[in-house]
Amino acid sequence: MEPARSSASIPYGTTAYYAGLAASDDPNQDPIAAQIYPRPQEHSILPYESSDPIADQQYLIAERLIHHYHDRALMLVNDRCATYCRHCFRRHFTGNDSGRITPAQLSAACDALASRPQINEILLSGGDPLMLGDDELERILRALREVNPDYIIRIATRIPIVLPRRITERLTRLLAIQPGLWMVIQANHPRELTPEFSTAVARIRQSGIPLLNQAVLLRGVNDDAVVLEELFKGLLRNGVKPYYLFQGDLASGTRHFRTSIEHGLQLMDTLRSRISGMALPVYAVDLPGGGGKIPLNRETLVRTEKNWYVLQDLAGNHYRYPREIQKGET
Ligand SMILES: *Cc1c(COP(=O)(O)O)cnc(C)c1O
Repeated sequence: MEPARSSASIPYGTTAYYAGLAASDDPNQDPIAAQIYPRPQEHSILPYESSDPIADQQYLIAERLIHHYHDRALMLVNDRCATYCRHCFRRHFTGNDSGRITPAQLSAACDALASRPQINEILLSGGDPLMLGDDELERILRALREVNPDYIIRIATRIPIVLPRRITERLTRLLAIQPGLWMVIQANHPRELTPEFSTAVARIRQSGIPLLNQAVLLRGVNDDAVVLEELFKGLLRNGVKPYYLFQGDLASGTRHFRTSIEHGLQLMDTLRSRISGMALPVYAVDLPGGGGKIPLNRETLVRTEKNWYVLQDLAGNHYRYPREIQKGET
C-alpha cells in the first residue's frame, strides 16, 4: 500500500437506484445527494485531516490485513464500491486502483493470520466486499476457513442500501455456508430504508445471517433527533440492530460533514429518552492517530477546551479531537 497522502480523493460513482432516492441533486439540500455528489469543500484539507485518519497503515501485518484490536483483524478485499460515499474515511485505499485482493495477497494474509492464534474474528471490508463476484467471495471465505474453521466473519457492506439487487439467492446461499457470519451495513438516513432494501435484508436474515448497522453522524444528512429516531426504529423493524453511530473521522476534505461532539451527545440524550434500548447504537469515535474506537460519553469526554476536546481511552491515555464549532451550532 502507498503511504497515506493527506489529500487522497475519492472517485465519483453511484448507482441509478441510489441516485433515484434523492429528491434533489443538490448536495446542500438533500441527504442522499450529500452522500453522492462531490462538493467544492472536499478540496479544503485541514492540517489535522488525513487520508488515513484511523491509522490503518500503522497496523498492517500483511499487505491487505490490518490487526489493530486484540482478537480481530480486518481484511481489505476490494477497493471498489457501488457508491463512493463523500464522507469515506478510508481515502488512502478506496477507489485508488489497488483493486481486488490477489491470490498472492490472500495467501500472505492467511499466513499472517495463521501466526496469530489470538485472532478469532475477521472483518471483510474495503471498498465493498460484495462488489466481488460470488466465486471470488467464495474463494476468500474458503481460504479463511482453511486457516480456522471457527472464525467469526463480519462483512462490512453498503450494498443492501446502494445496490439491493446484488443480494441474490445465490449470494446469500454461499454466505450462509459459513457459520458465525455477520453482516454490518451502513444506513445513514430513513429514506434509504426502501421496499428494495427491506427485501434484500429479509433475504439475508432468512439465510440465518444477523445484521447490524453502523451509521455515520453527518451534518445535513442525519444530525437531527427526529431523523435518527426514524432511522433506528426503521432498522429495528427490518431486523437490523443499530450498533454504532460514528462521530465523523478526520478524513481529508470532510469538515463540512462533521458535527460537534456536544451536538452528538445531545442527540444521544434525546434519543435515550424517546426510543427503545434495542434501537440505540453506541455513539463512538475512532481516536485520531490510531488510538482506536472509544464510546463518546461524559466519562470519555474528559474536557472541552476552546478549540479541542480531550478524550480518554480505556487505558487512560488522552487524545485531542478538534472542536469545530460553527455559526448556528450548539
Ligand atoms: C472498527 C474496527 C474493528 C472492529 O471494531 P469493533 O469495535 O469490534 O466493531 C476491527 N478492526 C479494525 C481495524 C477496525 O477499524
